[in-house]
Formats: sequence, C-alpha cells, structure tokens
Amino acid sequence: MSLTLTPSSRSDDRNLRTPPVDDRSMHGRCTLVGAGPGDPELLTIKALKAIQSATVLLVDDLVSDEIVAMAQPGARLIHVGKRGGCKSTPQSFIERLMIMAVREGEHVVRLKGGDPFIFGRGGEEVEHLAQAGIHVEVVNGITSGLAGLTSLGVPLTHRDHAQGVVFVTGHAKPGSPGTDWHALAATAHAARLTLVIYMGVSGAGRIQGELLRGLPASTPIVVVQNASMPTQRHAVGTLGTLERTIADNGLCSPSIIVVGDVLQGLAAAASSAHAALEKAA
Ligand code: SAH
Repeated sequence: MSLTLTPSSRSDDRNLRTPPVDDRSMHGRCTLVGAGPGDPELLTIKALKAIQSATVLLVDDLVSDEIVAMAQPGARLIHVGKRGGCKSTPQSFIERLMIMAVREGEHVVRLKGGDPFIFGRGGEEVEHLAQAGIHVEVVNGITSGLAGLTSLGVPLTHRDHAQGVVFVTGHAKPGSPGTDWHALAATAHAARLTLVIYMGVSGAGRIQGELLRGLPASTPIVVVQNASMPTQRHAVGTLGTLERTIADNGLCSPSIIVVGDVLQGLAAAASSAHAALEKAA
C-alpha cells in the first residue's frame, strides 16, 4: 500500500493552478465521519453523503467493508488500522497525511467506527488540523456502546433501573492515571447509573475486581461482541463472574461490557433459558 499522495488527476479547475502556500488549506476540506458500529444501515444520511463525495478516505479498522465500498470508484482508500496483522499507523502520521491531502485540494474523509468523538481520538485530530489552519466538519455516528444494548432490545436508561449512563474506557492512555473504578462503582451504585465499558475485554479481571469494591457481585452484566454485525454475539452474567463469562464464551475485541440493573430483564431471561436447557438435558 502506498501512502504517497499526489495531486488528483481529475480535471476540475482546482488542478489548473498552484495556490500560494498560505492559501492552500482553503482548497480541500476534511470531514471526520462516524461510520457507526458496523451495520451499514445505521449510517446517517450525512455520513453517506460525505463518504460518497470523498476523494481520499482514511479508514480505521472497525469500519465495515460494506461502508468503505460506498466510496466513489476513483477515491483513494488508505487503511490506517491494524488490518492484515500490520501495526496501526502512528497517529501523528495520519494527521500529517490528512493535512497534506487537504492542502492538495482533496476532500478528505476520516472514517471512524462508531462516533468519532467517543474514544475515537477525533478530538485530537480536530485540534491538530485546527493548528494547521484546517477546519474539520464532524459527522456523528451511532456509538457501539449504544448499539450493543439496543441490538438486545435493552435500553441504557430506564426510569425503574437507571437514571443515567457512563461511557468509560477500560484502556486509558499510557502514562495517564486511568479510571478510578472504585469511585465510579460507588457512584454508579448510589446514583443508579449504567456503566458502558469500551476496550475493557483484555483488562476485565482487573476492572471486575475494582468495580466489586463499590457494586454488588450480583449486578447484571452483558458483553456484546461485534454489535450490529452478522457476527454479533453476547453473553450475560453478573459482575462477580465477568472475567469468567468472557473466557467461557470466547468473547474478544471489539466488545463492549455493560454493567447495571437495567439488564435485570435480560439476566432473568438468560437464566430461565439456561434452566430450561438443563431440564431438557
Ligand atoms: N468510536 C468508537 C469506539 C472506538 S474505541 C465508538 O463510538 O463505538 C474501540 C472500542 O469500541 C472497541 O474496543 C470496543 O470496545 C468498542 N466497539 C467498537 N465497535 C464495536 C462493535 N461493533 N461491537 C462491540 N464493541 C465495539
């Protein structure tokens, strides 16, 4: 894959002159687009229009192939994730590439899974492009933490069970203090909040141990892998069995972990299905 960007060969008037250096960023544009959790039908119309009008697309791993296929035939596709066992492209390189392409007059679409402003480093990219004098338009996508539970027919909030919801990462930036899980669990318990944990599978044992300091072991949990995709799977358990539930069911990334009493109905349905299976065996 070549990451070299050359001026577009399309014959519109942008290619007929070389703009002065400090004027160049005026000629292209950049849109940060949320591709949603995977199901192409969950794209917004605005996202679809941006994808179809892009001349350069920088695509993250979690964006489904069906969505990438919506790009116009001549568009340049640059995969910047870890596909094919390769290392992911460094963030600073991606940002330099975006700036360069905009200055060459391209419509750059940066395509990210879910919503670009939920754990997608969208904020960092907008800041860096702003420093280069480039305004970035941002198009929301449906975040996987929302889609995961909705796909099971369960709401994130419910007047009887959850007064609010917290989206939290299980994988803090290296070197940062990370999440105070104990404080979060105590608050979630006291204020009746649903916890939606992104990037939490590999650290599930540690997260479970910390959350148990503030939440009962019987609190229902669900882990949803590949939410909204044909390959979607999930497993229900309790906070006391979180790590084992993930291991027993072979769940892996990308998965979200949801913790909270809003899952009571799902947990009850899962345990009666389990009881029925045991009886039949
Ligand atoms: N911006 C994205 C999140 C990026 S962080 C969003 O709004 O959804 C990457 C993490 O998101 C993954 O480790 C996983 O926890 C979650 N994730 C992304 N897509 C997912 C999917 N289809 N199903 C379950 N979890 C997903």
